[in-house]
Parts: sequence; C-alpha cells; structure tokens
Amino acid sequence: MNTPIGWALIGASNVARQWIIDAIRAQPDSTILNVLSSSEERGAGFAAENDIPAHTTDIDTILTDRKVDAVYISTANQFHCSQTLAAAAAGKNVLCEKPIALDVADARKMIVACREAEVVLGINHHLRCNAMHQKLRQLLQKGTIGRLNAVRVFHANFLPEALHGWRVNDPDGGGLILDSTIHDIDTLRFLIGSNPTHVMAMTQSGRLAHDGVEDGIMVVMRFPGDVLVQIHGSYTVPFSEGGVEFYGSGGVLIGRDCMSQRPAGRLFMRNADGEREIPFQHHNLYHYALSAFSSAVWGTGHPAATGEDGLAALAIALAIRESARTGRQIEVEIP
Ligand code: NDP
Repeated sequence: MNTPIGWALIGASNVARQWIIDAIRAQPDSTILNVLSSSEERGAGFAAENDIPAHTTDIDTILTDRKVDAVYISTANQFHCSQTLAAAAAGKNVLCEKPIALDVADARKMIVACREAEVVLGINHHLRCNAMHQKLRQLLQKGTIGRLNAVRVFHANFLPEALHGWRVNDPDGGGLILDSTIHDIDTLRFLIGSNPTHVMAMTQSGRLAHDGVEDGIMVVMRFPGDVLVQIHGSYTVPFSEGGVEFYGSGGVLIGRDCMSQRPAGRLFMRNADGEREIPFQHHNLYHYALSAFSSAVWGTGHPAATGEDGLAALAIALAIRESARTGRQIEVEIP
C-alpha cells in the first residue's frame, strides 16, 4: 500500500481552484493541508471556499510541517524558482506550474536542488496528459504516416477577462510566449520526440496586452530530420478551434479541439484509403498529471513532465522570444 501524501498549495491561484484541488483529491490517500497566499484575506477566503483546513502567509509554516510531503506551486511565474528552492531545501516534493522559471539558469538550479534533496520535481505541462495527444504520439512513433515532413499547431483563443492581469501587463513574467506558446512547445517535444534546432518568430501586441507584452504570435521552427513546424498562438482571436496537423509521406494526422484544459479532442487520419476517425478513451488531464506525480513520490513512476522537460520548453520559448525581439533566426541551445 502507498503512504498517504499530504499536500500544501503555494499560491491561491485560479488554476489551483479550477483544476488542481480536485485532481489532488482524486488521488488515493491525498489530502490538502494548507494554502499559502501573500494576502491573509485572500488566503482565508480561498481556504474556506475550497475546504482547506489551514491558510498562511508564511511559507515556513508549510515547509516546517512534517505532515506536508509535497507542494503545488502556482504563484505568479517570478516566484516559481525561489519557492521551489525553499521547498527542496525542506525536503518537500514539488509540482510546479509552467514556465518552470523565467530564465534557464534558475531552471537548472531548481533541477539540481531537487535532485540533491532527493525530492521529485514535476512541471505541470498539462497538454501531454491529453489522451488524444498520447494516441497521436503512439501513431507517430509507429511510423503510421511515414516520414514526417511538417507540422502545424493552432492555439489561438480569446483570453477570458478574469485572466487578464499579469498575463497582459507584465513584460517579464507575462505574455503569450511563456504563458501559452510554451505549452505548444512542450506538446511538440512530446509528440515529435526531439527539440527544434532553429526558431523564428513574429509577435503582435496592443490588441489586448500592452507595454510591448505579446498577445499574438506566428512561429516557424526546424526540427531534426528537416521537419518544419509552424505555430499560431493568440489571446485575441475569438471563435477559433485549437488543433494540430502532422503531414507525413504516407498520410496526415489531424487533431481537432485538442489544445485546451478539458478532456477534449478528436483525431483523424487521412491517407490513400480516405479519412477516418481514430478512436481512443479520454481522461481528465490534471487527474492524469497528479496520478503520475504521486507515483513518482511513491517511487513507482515519474512525473508526466520532469524538470528537464520544463527547462527544455523554457529554453525554446526564450529563443522564440529572442527571435521576435531581434528579428533574427535563433539557434536553440538546451543547456
Ligand atoms: P492567478 O492570477 O489566479 O494566480 C497567481 C497569483 O496571483 C496567486 O498566487 C495569487 O497570489 C495572486 N492572485 C490571485 N488572485 C488575485 C487577486 N484577486 N488579486 C491579487 N492577486 C491575486 O494565476 P493563474 O492561476 O492563472 O496562474 C498561476 C500559475 O499557473 C502561473 O504560473 C501560470 O503560468 C500557471 N497556469 C498553468 C495552467 C496549466 O494548465 N498548466 C493553467 C493556468 C495557469 P497569492 O498566492 O499570494 O494569493
């Protein structure tokens, strides 16, 4: 039998409220013991609303509590590194939201600290937990559509007003690239099984975001094997459907409505025999992520996305941002 996992939430966030509290409680023997907020009032409201027995404004209250085995960090992006380092030093397992950090050096420090403390570090790149992407990956690995030629990713939507805040006004921690494009990058790494070698990008700003913060993007990337990849991302396009298209020498795989947090998506294959829908069973993305993370804590598995996955996605996202800012093609280096 597995030992129970006591959790604390670091951050009274929307994503915790909407998805993660339920996903933690869906795991066997997992309990949420405490929530950290920088605001006493917000923490109290969040704890009451979500039936969490304690709240605090002092991270040490959580880190010195021996009943806390794991923390879920979903504060604003600039706090992910320092809070992960503190949690690792206290011997707590860490599930951290994406982006892992704001720069690669910090991401590396987080990986090293968790490794040395012998605690698990997972990064919550949820799209690789979508059953449609998992099925698509299997088909690609089997060579179902032959030699891969090109990929297109459609991830444009209209950001709900409740999520504006730091996403549209913080030039360092906010913006579409570190918020959303980084999910596309992780999904592509998961599906293709490699990292891009070169990236080029152009961004938009001003439809919703301001102070130069990007709210729209077109990216072109080259992956090993001379595979060209295109991403369209946006905060400002209503009525768009997220999707992916993989073009191979022997067919096309098309994923529709598969870039959201919901267990959604339909998969189609088109080849010389015509077009057919590929069947598979959906599951809750966040339940899947928490189940994988719990297995890693018990020593019987690994997180859906590791610290190394988070670092690679961040390095590629920063190369994309550099390309957009300089107008140059950037060679990707994953340290
Ligand atoms: P929120 O804006 O809801 O929360 C971020 C921080 O903002 C909280 O920690 C909280 O600080 C503070 N905050 C929350 N509400 C208020 C308020 N009314 N007034 C002032 N401050 C407030 O962010 P998200 O939940 O959207 O994102 C949190 C993290 O999760 C980010 O790193 C993001 O990238 C990631 N994310 C991941 C998703 C995924 O599916 N993997 C989906 C969405 C976000 P405090 O804790 O101090 O109270």
